[in-house]
Amino acid sequence: MAVPKRKTSKQRSATRYAQWKLKSPAVVECPQCHKPKLSHRVCGACGYYDKNRSVEVKQEEKK
Ligand SMILES: [Zn+2]
Repeated sequence: MAVPKRKTSKQRSATRYAQWKLKSPAVVECPQCHKPKLSHRVCGACGYYDKNRSVEVKQEEKK
């Protein structure tokens, strides 16, 4: 089994974890209904993905 030759120093761990950042999601405007949607995702408001490809959207929620 491969074993690390050196102990990872506190400085090295801290430097590595300093690179960890939160990214904001890629929000774009829907070309169909112009509402904000996630990029590369089907629009939640109108159900469109491409110009002519679409999926059905639930109109009513269960009460
Ligand atoms: Zn839309």
